[in-house]
Amino acid sequence: MTAPQEQQEQVQLAAAGEVALKQECREVLDRAFEYLDGEMAELDCERLKSHLAECAHCLEQLAEDEELKRAIRDGCPCETAPTQLRARILVQITEVTATVR
Ligand SMILES: [Zn+2]
Repeated sequence: MTAPQEQQEQVQLAAAGEVALKQECREVLDRAFEYLDGEMAELDCERLKSHLAECAHCLEQLAEDEELKRAIRDGCPCETAPTQLRARILVQITEVTATVR
């Protein structure tokens, strides 16, 4: 069981990052899916990668997007989610609900 306090801290950090988002970061996050799909021009790709090397916030965000993309590619969770994945999602929902309160 995860400590609820830790979860809350992460949410607050994410919210703070949203407010203080630099123009460069916004550009990176706007094109995250382009990058993950491998549709980004080589030059832009290099620029994005060098930004990720020094910006933990974008790196984290991109990792989340990648996970989301993989989940989408793996198919509709409603139909094919393995029991393990469904259990994980349920745990996440429970944690989010606990954080909101
Ligand atoms: Zn950034």
